[in-house]
Formats: sequence, structure tokens, C-alpha cells
Amino acid sequence: MHRTRWPDHLSSGFKQDDLRPFFRIRHELTVLHDCLLWGQRTIIPTALRAKALSQLHKTHPGKNGMQRLARRYFWWPKLDESIATIVTECDACCQVLPETPAVPLSQWPRPDRPWKRIHVDFAGPFKGAMWFIVIDAHSRWPEIVKMAIGQTTSSHVIQALATMFSRYGFAEELVSDNGTQFTSQEFAQWCRAHGVKHLFTAPYHPQSNGLAERFVATFKQAMLKSGEEEGIDICLLKFLQRYRITPHPATDEAPAELFLKRTPRSQFDLFFPTAMHAMEKARMKDKLHFDKGTKEKKLFVGADVLIRNYKGKDKPRWVRGAIIGQKGTVNWEVKEKGREEIWMRHSNQLRLAKSTDSIDVENDAYETLNSPTTSSADIDYSTLPAIHLNEDPFEEPPPTQIEVNPPEDSNEPPSTPLPVEPPTLRRSARARRPPQAYSPE
Ligand SMILES: [Zn+2]
Repeated sequence: MHRTRWPDHLSSGFKQDDLRPFFRIRHELTVLHDCLLWGQRTIIPTALRAKALSQLHKTHPGKNGMQRLARRYFWWPKLDESIATIVTECDACCQVLPETPAVPLSQWPRPDRPWKRIHVDFAGPFKGAMWFIVIDAHSRWPEIVKMAIGQTTSSHVIQALATMFSRYGFAEELVSDNGTQFTSQEFAQWCRAHGVKHLFTAPYHPQSNGLAERFVATFKQAMLKSGEEEGIDICLLKFLQRYRITPHPATDEAPAELFLKRTPRSQFDLFFPTAMHAMEKARMKDKLHFDKGTKEKKLFVGADVLIRNYKGKDKPRWVRGAIIGQKGTVNWEVKEKGREEIWMRHSNQLRLAKSTDSIDVENDAYETLNSPTTSSADIDYSTLPAIHLNEDPFEEPPPTQIEVNPPEDSNEPPSTPLPVEPPTLRRSARARRPPQAYSPE
């Protein structure tokens, strides 16, 4: 594929039929972190399309539901056809009601903000329980509370509503039918106490509470097919999560976006390339470079080396010495020049000494920038991908810094690209000393 330029038109002899759909949208294609995007939608590569479809198909939302959600997050040529095929082959999806604007909503104009008017209703007995359903009229945000059959009195309803009001505030209006739990003195009192205006739907005309009615049908449909393996409660949560992020046909927006004024993160966000993915990739690449670099460093018994020094405040970080023995593949016995004491060092704490080698005494700033990991005090490890730099544990003072690159004034160019650090990883306020050049005496 052209990264730089599309042709102005496709000639009739153009052979690559699979690229034709992309030509149509060529001006809207972008590349982000190596992923191809059409607007905000990730273009899923062929190999991953089946996975994306199966995510989409969870909770059996039917053809329109799947298409609305897919349009929000990803695309590939003939995506709608792929969805249609799945739906034709799935009993549960086939039974999802077609979306018709049958519900007469004129009686209830859409409020201008969330949680101003809510519609409540009961569904069931269904799946061995009663289901108390609350829909916000502005956003279509649903709440469902499972109740035991026979335990749907006013006080049960009040308990459920009080929980919601504690989260979202008191609704201004509440629409219900004439069920006894809603017509009781207790419920009327509770509504008055919370400043809620209680409105009743016309008797024998359930359509006038169409918001809740319609949702009940959708809910039942979803629960019928799913939930057998994982249990009804998990199934309910999955349905709600899914419903809340799917653009609603009446508003064309996801209930969550209107209700929460943000898009909650979901499984579908994982299809979108993020800077974090790119950073993790860069990190893994660093590690590969790093491993390679480490292996290429040929240490041997008898070699003159620079040894990472941990003793004495005023002593340099690197001292001259020699390898006198090998312990395993990466640990070495070393001696500082002119001393008898034997130290144990990891390969990463040694450098082959050359005549041109100089010793950077305190080069914190440089090191912090260039090492693949900063000192342990700087990092919240829980936020990092697990990358183990050291193969063997150290016996003697654990390394706080691991050298990857030669010092700035060395002849060798740095072998490792600068790692990309997310800014949040810098937790410590440790003062960083400016680089200080070593001057031999
Ligand atoms: Zn299905």
C-alpha cells in the first residue's frame, strides 16, 4: 500500500479488488501507532476480524445493535455484511425486535438533561426473579435491580431508588404505572420528601410508559439466550455495560455519553491504538536491543574491566580492575586494581576497559535518560510491563542503575534508542545532578 500517496483514480485495469473499498475513503485514512484508522474507527486487519465480531456479538444485540456499536469503534470492508451473516445464523439475534419508532413519545418530551425524568417499571417474573427497571428519559441510561418474587413492595422500590438517588441525585419526575407499590401512601410520602413529582401512566395503556416497556423487551431478549453458563447476575451486568455504550437509535448517542458526559472505557477501546501500546512496544524493543547488547559484550577471565563501585561516598562509580573468575553465565569475580578484596559483579556492572575508556564518576542525568529502567525508587512497578533485565540475582549490593550505553565521551555511539517514558512514571523528586566530566589526575 502507498504510504505517501494514492493514485488520483483507479484505472479499469486495477487488479487489487481488496483495495477498492479503501480508495473510496482514502482521504479519511490515517495511521496512528502503526494502526490504520478511518476517522476514529480502527480498521481491523483480516486476521482479527473474527475476534472483533465475536466481541460484538456478545449478549446478542441483534443486527442493528451490532452495527451501531461497530460503527462507533471499528470498520473493515463489508463489515455490515459480516454482521448480517452472524445474525442470520444466530437464533437469539434473529428474534431481536426490529427498531421501529412505534413508541408514542409525544406525551413525554425528552428532558434537556439527565436524571430529570425517570421511567420505572417491573419486568417478570422472569428467570426466577422480578426486575425493577429504571430508565433515564434524556440519555436512555438504564438501571436494573433484581428482586425476589413477592418482594416488590413500596419499601423495596424505595430502597432501590434511594440507592440510585445517592449516586445520581434526586430525580425531578418519576413515571410509573398504577402498580400497588407505586400507588401506596408510603411511596407518595417518600416522593414528596425527595421533591420527586410522581406521574402515572394511563391505566390499560402500557404504551404510555413506552420507554421502560421497550427496554424490558430488549432486556428479556438478551437475558434469554445468555446467562446459562455464567449466571444471571454476571449476564445482567454485561448486558447493562453493553447497552450503555451502544449508541441508542432515539438519540444516536450512547446512553453513557449523555448520562456520564464521558465514554466509559470498554472492551471496544482495546481495538483503538493508543500511545500506551506504542510505548510498551518501544519498551520491548529496548529490551531486545538491550539483551543483544549484553550478549555481545564479551567478558572473559583475565580481562581488564571497569567495575561498578558501590563503596565509599567519594569514590568513583567506576573503578579499574580485572576479572579473576566466572560464576555462572553472567556473574564474575573481580578485583579492583591494587586491592585484594574479591567482588562479585553481574555482566551489566562491568565494562571492558580500553585505553580510551574514561570513567564517568557521577553521571546521573545521563544515566537516568538513557537506561531502560530508572532507579527502583522512581518507578511504580505495578504500572510497568514485566521486563526482567537481570537473569541472576545479585549477592552483593543490588544494582540501582544498570548501564546500557557507554558514557557520553566514549567513542562508541549509544546502541540503545531513548526509551519512551510515560510522564506519570516519574514519581520521585530526586534532585538530578548535572553531568560531570571525569578528568584523570
Ligand atoms: Zn446472537
